[in-house]
Amino acid sequence: MALHTLTIQAAHNLLVKGEITSVELTRAVLDRIAEVDPAVRAFVTVCEEEALREAAAADACLQSGEGVTPLTGIPYGAKDCLSTARVRTTCSSAILEDYVPHYDATVIARLREAGAVLVGKQNMDEFGMGSSCENSAFFDTHNPWDLDRVPGGSSGGSAAAVAADMGLFSLGEDTGGSVRMPAGFCGVTGLKPTYGRVSRYGLIALASSFDSVGPLAHDVHDAALVTQAIAGQDPYDSTSVAAVVPGYIAGLDRDLRGVKLGVPVEYFAEGIEPGVEAAVRAAIDHLTDLGAEVQVVSLPHTDYAIPIYYLILMAEASANLARFDGVRFGLSTPLDGGDVIDRYLQTRAKGFGDEVKRRIMLGTFALSAGYYDAYYLRAQRVRTLLRQDFERAFEQVDAIIAPVCPTTAFKLGEKIDDPLQMYLSDIHVVAANPGGVCSLSVPCGFSEGLPVGMQIIGPPLGESTIFRIGDAYQATTTWHLDRPQMGQ
Ligand code: GLN
Repeated sequence: MALHTLTIQAAHNLLVKGEITSVELTRAVLDRIAEVDPAVRAFVTVCEEEALREAAAADACLQSGEGVTPLTGIPYGAKDCLSTARVRTTCSSAILEDYVPHYDATVIARLREAGAVLVGKQNMDEFGMGSSCENSAFFDTHNPWDLDRVPGGSSGGSAAAVAADMGLFSLGEDTGGSVRMPAGFCGVTGLKPTYGRVSRYGLIALASSFDSVGPLAHDVHDAALVTQAIAGQDPYDSTSVAAVVPGYIAGLDRDLRGVKLGVPVEYFAEGIEPGVEAAVRAAIDHLTDLGAEVQVVSLPHTDYAIPIYYLILMAEASANLARFDGVRFGLSTPLDGGDVIDRYLQTRAKGFGDEVKRRIMLGTFALSAGYYDAYYLRAQRVRTLLRQDFERAFEQVDAIIAPVCPTTAFKLGEKIDDPLQMYLSDIHVVAANPGGVCSLSVPCGFSEGLPVGMQIIGPPLGESTIFRIGDAYQATTTWHLDRPQMGQ
């Protein structure tokens, strides 16, 4: 049996029966990484020794039978913007290349407590800025379905790792699609939870009012298991939500009769690839066959989603990234006669990549005196309109179905010199973050051999609803079972 290909649920059943050990499972994942990651390049850091040590501890727990959770002994990887104590956390940036945090992000700590085994840290667009993983300061990640194509971004390493069976799940981060878009491009399942549902403590901030941590996994059931373990209020994050976390697995009943689904006209406009539209429309028909009622809805401010998202993101990012000054964190250029300002300038010039610099400059400009009202304030007002679009739609329907991206995975190099084209590939994913909603990306077919993803968007704190719909879909389809041909 190829242990690295198991779902969390299947591996858990074997672990508790004593048919496999976590050390065997973790070894299988580490061997798989050694076999296929030289071609995929999903990992910035692999922590083999620590992983095997954690796996042995998980085995002891499984043997005693005390404190066993559904994630005990399950190997996983995390996007490299999530702080991990004693394990390098780079955000795929030269400025943090040697940064080793002293503490775990809350999500990492919760997974550690649940007994999950961290095998490594995954490549991303630098600081989460990008849609293709080509903005990493270190190397590009390749899509396991076609190595000449991008895995999507910014959690490209996290999606590619799951698709290529290098870890049973990943933790990613979604500020404007970074979990959902790579999940769609790589044919895996990914969740952007509602803002505040999952703690951001220890997540290196991109845009603090949008950032959400979410899982990528082989199916909805596994994504729900991971969400269950990481969700809930955190005293270290004042924006985390106090509401009780429902039992997501208990809520997975597969009957969709009476569930109302909305299809937003604006998301099926021109520019969408015919193969993508066909797959998503077929999925909607399938949901209808399962008993769901489908109606057309309108999200009239969709055209403004990209401009206001990028404006607010750049403004918030420019403020967040001010902390990388060569004094407290990471890279520091030696003072060669100059003063502290010279040190800031030299460190930042050397440590940040082009896309990060572009966004810091644009964001600083948008926040500067005289422009603040015209740009930032106006964008915040339009953000309210986007949120109201969703509120109105959710008065009529339980969930909204949309494509993840207008195209399938594009070629490496195809958009990297055209930032606007790159930003436009986020057209279907960005609204969820300023809109304050949650959204699940599930594989729903192929177009010319490449995976197509469908979004199931739910109202604020509506994770149970979208898990239920996604799980019912996967119980009666096989798209999520297809794996790319890689290695043995
Ligand atoms: N493509 C988005 C951007 O470049 C993704 C951001 C994210 O979700 N981290 O801003």
